[in-house]
Amino acid sequence: MNFEFSREDKLFLESVKSFVEREIAPRWVEIDEGKYPIEEVVGKLSKAGLLGIPLNSKYGGQDGTFLQSALAAEALAYGDPSLATAVYMLLETAWPYVVQRHGRDEAREEILPEVTAGRAFVGIASTEPQGGSDVAALVTKAVREGGTWRLYGEKSMVTGVATALNLPYGGGFVTIVRTGALEERHRGLSAVLAMVKRRGARAGGFTYSNWDEIGRHGLPTSRLTFEGLAVEEGLLLGEVNGGFKIAMEGFNLARTVIGAASLGASKWLLDRGLEWVRQRRVFDKPVASYQGVSFRAAELFARLQAAQLAVYRAAWVADKFYSGDVAFTIHDVATAGAIAKYLAVSLAVETALEVMKWFGGVSYFRETNIARSLLGLLSYYVGAEGAENIMKLIIARGVVGRDFV
Ligand SMILES: Cc1cc2nc3c(=O)[nH]c(=O)nc-3n(C[C@H](O)[C@H](O)[C@H](O)COP(=O)(O)OP(=O)(O)OC[C@H]3O[C@@H](n4cnc5c(N)ncnc54)[C@H](O)[C@@H]3O)c2cc1C
Repeated sequence: MNFEFSREDKLFLESVKSFVEREIAPRWVEIDEGKYPIEEVVGKLSKAGLLGIPLNSKYGGQDGTFLQSALAAEALAYGDPSLATAVYMLLETAWPYVVQRHGRDEAREEILPEVTAGRAFVGIASTEPQGGSDVAALVTKAVREGGTWRLYGEKSMVTGVATALNLPYGGGFVTIVRTGALEERHRGLSAVLAMVKRRGARAGGFTYSNWDEIGRHGLPTSRLTFEGLAVEEGLLLGEVNGGFKIAMEGFNLARTVIGAASLGASKWLLDRGLEWVRQRRVFDKPVASYQGVSFRAAELFARLQAAQLAVYRAAWVADKFYSGDVAFTIHDVATAGAIAKYLAVSLAVETALEVMKWFGGVSYFRETNIARSLLGLLSYYVGAEGAENIMKLIIARGVVGRDFV
């Protein structure tokens, strides 16, 4: 057991932190208000080597690890606690990695270098209006016409559609589609890379409209309706009807790095809260001197350390599995990722609410900025990349056994 990061990881973290302090932290409120467009931020993330950290260097990646991805997300969310920047980075960790692992050469060679250069976005389109948790029940169809698939159906919450359309090359989504019968459940699903814009040209066969989000405004989420969007055979990921497992791989990785982003936001919230309660005097004493406050700070800090260990372990398990260590299975990656998201996201939301109470009435106003972080975190609390109960379901499968849960 070694609780120290390697020298390489320490140097990596230092360089990310100094990038974040210089380029992100001073402008995070502008990012949240959409005044500093994410498409511009993305160029900086690319130059800093933060897009596609675990991707192969032949695609412009860093040949890095999931632990490094987690450290980067944590540092980015400390600088932009609305989460938009960290979420962009973590989506570009998980879903392009899935394309690298399961995509055809033509897709990998053309699209991944555009992602790492900050010219394209690759996200996930799974959730449908009838529900997101039960992925095996989704109905969006892919119909084969010669060498092309045509997509029909609605994906109800897709992050990054507008962003992909605004980037110079464009982008697309690992899209989970039904290619078999509904009764086949997860065995009748395939994964394709549905491009809404490619080589600078917008595709036909789809419409979209942005949701009016309560938070994390820097990175919009949309409804995306497929009306015959064409997907070439070369954009199929893995085998026909093998899409469910591919989707789960991406979710496992994204959840781990979301856990890391939540740690960064928690740390930012706790630091701001502690600064405040140390200087704010009520009943002639600093607010921090009341045990009702200092003990809550102690609880939140202790749980932050515990969540940090869970997140770093989840990233380490992913690194072990993906580097071919046979002592680890994909189920280990899934359980560890679900634990990371479950612990870190709920802690961050609880920390935000507690810190708002420490600030008192002023926290209710946007100018204090605490609520901006809460509203960003809530996206993951209510469901993005899997609802809390679904994290418990995955953990229970690992702990109680898949035959029972
Ligand atoms: C900001 C934001 C961005 C998003 N971006 C994307 C995206 O880019 N791509 C994408 O595909 N999706 C995206 N989503 C959607 C997200 O993945 C879904 O919200 C999530 O999967 C849950 O699905 P649902 O909202 O339809 O809830 P439902 O599946 O309808 O679930 C509702 C509630 O029922 C509970 N529940 C469901 N099943 C069980 C069970 N078996 N046991 C106990 N409780 C259960 C859930 O925990 C949840 O609380 C995004 C969501 C948000 C908020």
